Amino acid sequence: MTSMIQPQSGIMDIALYEGGAAHVEGKTNVLKLSSNENPLGPSDSAREAFSRAVHDLHRYPNTDHRALRTAIGEVWGLNPDQIICGVGSDEIIHFLCQAYAGPRDQVIHTEHGFAMYRISALAAGATPVEVPERDRMTDVDAILKACNKKTKLVFLANPNNPTGTMIGPTEIRRLAEGLPPQALLVLDGAYAEYVDGYDAGAALVHERNNVVITRTFSKIYGLGGLRVGWGYGPREIIDVLNRIRGPFNLSTAALVTAEAAVRDTAWVRKCRTENAKWRDWLARTLAEMGVPSDIATANFVLARFADQADADACDAHLRSEGIIVRRVVGYKLPHCLRITVGDEASCRRVAHAIGQYKGLR
Ligand SMILES: *Cc1c(COP(=O)(O)O)cnc(C)c1O
Repeated sequence: MTSMIQPQSGIMDIALYEGGAAHVEGKTNVLKLSSNENPLGPSDSAREAFSRAVHDLHRYPNTDHRALRTAIGEVWGLNPDQIICGVGSDEIIHFLCQAYAGPRDQVIHTEHGFAMYRISALAAGATPVEVPERDRMTDVDAILKACNKKTKLVFLANPNNPTGTMIGPTEIRRLAEGLPPQALLVLDGAYAEYVDGYDAGAALVHERNNVVITRTFSKIYGLGGLRVGWGYGPREIIDVLNRIRGPFNLSTAALVTAEAAVRDTAWVRKCRTENAKWRDWLARTLAEMGVPSDIATANFVLARFADQADADACDAHLRSEGIIVRRVVGYKLPHCLRITVGDEASCRRVAHAIGQYKGLR
């Protein structure tokens, strides 16, 4: 007999999210390049803030996040009243789906888009709609074509993960302008800091009422283990999201560490420069070995192989060398491997191993 106790429809359609692997059986000195983490970690000032937080562990955290929102506002030139902080940007994505999409509504994401969009849409009872890309590039016309009266949210990561490509401000604006009136554009800027001079869409938030951006401390700030992200949008929308946010969603340690991290702009600059240098070296070196990739704009390279068997075989060789990269079969890129840009030694190590696989070394 089937139980009368059943979850909301859509929940059982969610496939469990698989994080980047961290271990290889029987290997020590494993190199993890599977989760787009900053190889340099957080800044010293962030580490110190985290250590100091030990003295306040018995206190409940602040609920309005004012100090962190003020710091973010100062650094990025944004209005703190239009910022909401969450347990990673994952939580902001979740709030957006909970608040704006439900049964019979549609939530658009791109063909190779981040898995959390689909998961959060299904969790809210809405229907995820996948839109094709053009050669691993966001296709604004295809997104606009997929829109209809049921479209409530359009999620776009720019730069995108796992493709690493991005579209320019003119295309983003065209997308925001072309959406139906009931639809909200969510620009996921998880990798925005890797693109020098990019505002992640903040100017569009100021100009329009249908754009929200999400940001994270998990990538360039080196704080993936802490779980802090934030969103920026029209005041009415941030007000809605705050109504479903748990008052104590961020711990004191998370709040003070993120605040120190965002204020350390010199560290962010250093990480951006190092990343660009070794990303471009890695992409060039792999291309010379016959492993091409698109122009990468974030902190990873999407290496393309002949087919899935070739990508599988290369992945197996890398594992035998203690190197973990990301398979992206679930992202409809079975012939690709996503490789996070590590420090110099890590980039040289993974390039050397791929060279071995290709029979070049
Ligand atoms: C890594 C990543 C995030 C960050 O998620 P957090 O919950 O903030 O750690 C968000 N969006 C994309 C596309 C990502 O790749």
